[in-house]
Amino acid sequence: MSFVQVFQKLSRSELQLKLYSTSATDVERALQRPSGDLDSLLALLSPAAEPYLEQMAQQAVSLTRQRFGASIGMYIPLYLSNLCANECDYCGFTMSNKIKRKTLSCDDVSNEIRPIKAMGYDAILLVSGEHESKVGVPYFKQILPLVTEQFSHVAMEVQPLEERDYKELVAAGLDAVMLYQETYNPQTYSEHHTRGKKRDFNYRLESPDRVARAGVDKIGLGVLLGLDDWRLDALLMGHHLDYLEKTYWRSRYSISLPRLRPCTGGVSPKVELTDKGLVQMICAFRLFNQQLEISLSTRESPKLRDNLFALGVTNVSAGSSTQPGGYVEPNTELDQFEISDERTPQVVAKAMLERGLNPVWKDWETGW
Ligand code: SF4
Repeated sequence: MSFVQVFQKLSRSELQLKLYSTSATDVERALQRPSGDLDSLLALLSPAAEPYLEQMAQQAVSLTRQRFGASIGMYIPLYLSNLCANECDYCGFTMSNKIKRKTLSCDDVSNEIRPIKAMGYDAILLVSGEHESKVGVPYFKQILPLVTEQFSHVAMEVQPLEERDYKELVAAGLDAVMLYQETYNPQTYSEHHTRGKKRDFNYRLESPDRVARAGVDKIGLGVLLGLDDWRLDALLMGHHLDYLEKTYWRSRYSISLPRLRPCTGGVSPKVELTDKGLVQMICAFRLFNQQLEISLSTRESPKLRDNLFALGVTNVSAGSSTQPGGYVEPNTELDQFEISDERTPQVVAKAMLERGLNPVWKDWETGW
């Protein structure tokens, strides 16, 4: 049993019809009991909830402060490789893109870690393209000891792996896995993923099950907003989250809400999600799930990020490079996508402090 079986029983057309026929009364009812109720999540993601955004934001701020205090966890991505054996038309690393490819050696990783540590970071997200043969489990096992020696929290955003692989990586010190479905619409998924193992929609969909069964502490879900109807994609991600939390209650969960950004040779968003829509999504998820961690990357503008920090977001990256080797030697040709917030981590942290929030660089220490 995995989420694939649950997903196959869901009717997209029925959920879509409900989303777009929700009334103000439904939204008001949802605001009374939003927690853990998928019908309430649907109502809060619907167009009918837009006039209630102010009330949703107030509730979201209050629930976030109750559960997470004023703390915002700071993390930074470290790109290990831009090799990729998949064709995804929205990504700068896509196989057919004629860009210079690079995979960090152990020495390169150590060199990248130095400037990252100098910025004050203690939580890191290891990112790579999806290239099983050249950037697979043996490579990760070689790199992980260098990273776990320097960082108390290590997350990964790489290709989906088998359960036994995740177990080996957990034993090597891995704390979290981010695995984004990109879109929950199989038709749209197949249009954007045309070559490589990533074409297999169901294999990706059941990957968080394998991650959870391997005992990974934190699991991150996400959709690439702009590929399809964001309201329906967000709702189906809510169903996925609900299933995982109920089935694998020992793990913690996070979501990421990246909007499609321009990249080398890439596509523009088909379905635009406005800033207001992004705020609605963050508030809806916070009202639905008080424990949920919500990440915000540097894809968004400084002004918008500063406003979103207080709303429900719990983890923020800053000073990020989206290319392998980019902290030592920046080279925009290798970027996965364009960054919008180019401020240093210290400037971002100052903006948080000015809003009464507390940037947290380290919140974890292995016990004796
Ligand atoms: S989105 Fe991931 S799998 Fe697709 S081309 Fe980019 S790096 Fe490769």
